[in-house]
Amino acid sequence: MHIVLLGSPGAGKGTQSKVLVEKYGMEHIATGDIFRSEIGKKTTLGQKAENYVKKGMLVPDELVVEMVAARLDAGSGKWLLDGFPRTLGQAQELDKYLTSNSQNIDMVLYLAMPKSEVIARLTSRRTCSGCGDVYNLHTRKPQAEGKCDKCGETLIQREDDSEATVNKRLMIYEDLTQPLVAYYRSQHEFQEVDGNRSVDDVTSALCGEIDKVAAAGRGK
Ligand code: AMP
Repeated sequence: MHIVLLGSPGAGKGTQSKVLVEKYGMEHIATGDIFRSEIGKKTTLGQKAENYVKKGMLVPDELVVEMVAARLDAGSGKWLLDGFPRTLGQAQELDKYLTSNSQNIDMVLYLAMPKSEVIARLTSRRTCSGCGDVYNLHTRKPQAEGKCDKCGETLIQREDDSEATVNKRLMIYEDLTQPLVAYYRSQHEFQEVDGNRSVDDVTSALCGEIDKVAAAGRGK
């Protein structure tokens, strides 16, 4: 199964991806997580990406495409892309890569979410500095204030989740990433799912769509 999960920052892609990759045995390729990990480890890629990520800007296409291609080359063959592609150029490069490797995208899932809800979610999001688990000050509070339920490490606000940077990220999303919805709708198995519901309801809806594609014999 090869899946692209589209949606604005804060739509719930990361939370949902974790459940889906576990359930369907796919590799989770989340470009934002990879960049944060590379920045933390101070690798060459991390150093190149750091300024863009902190300011909420997109990392240049060449860097992202090369990084994703390396992950796909090394992977087991089943994957879910989360946060990639984010520009038309990245989508076209992905198509070229897949064609030259005799692969295709089985389905594109689009998590739709109103902008006002996205801003509220992102600015109240807190992330564990240890394991990366994600909390929300309103909807998923940790048991002990400021500490991760799973590993006990401190919860932090991602630098790019501050209000000013969130607004910039959403403008970039609307300009550069939103056009991918039309791109994929026109040429792939494309399903829009309402992301403005409980986590479990969204998961059920996404699984329902994946199961339909699997039952039709595609994406084995
Ligand atoms: P995310 O965790 O998906 O919100 O990504 C965090 C940041 O990583 C983004 O604001 C960008 O700076 C960078 N990033 C992640 N994925 C991409 C991508 N596909 N293209 C360019 N930059 C990306």
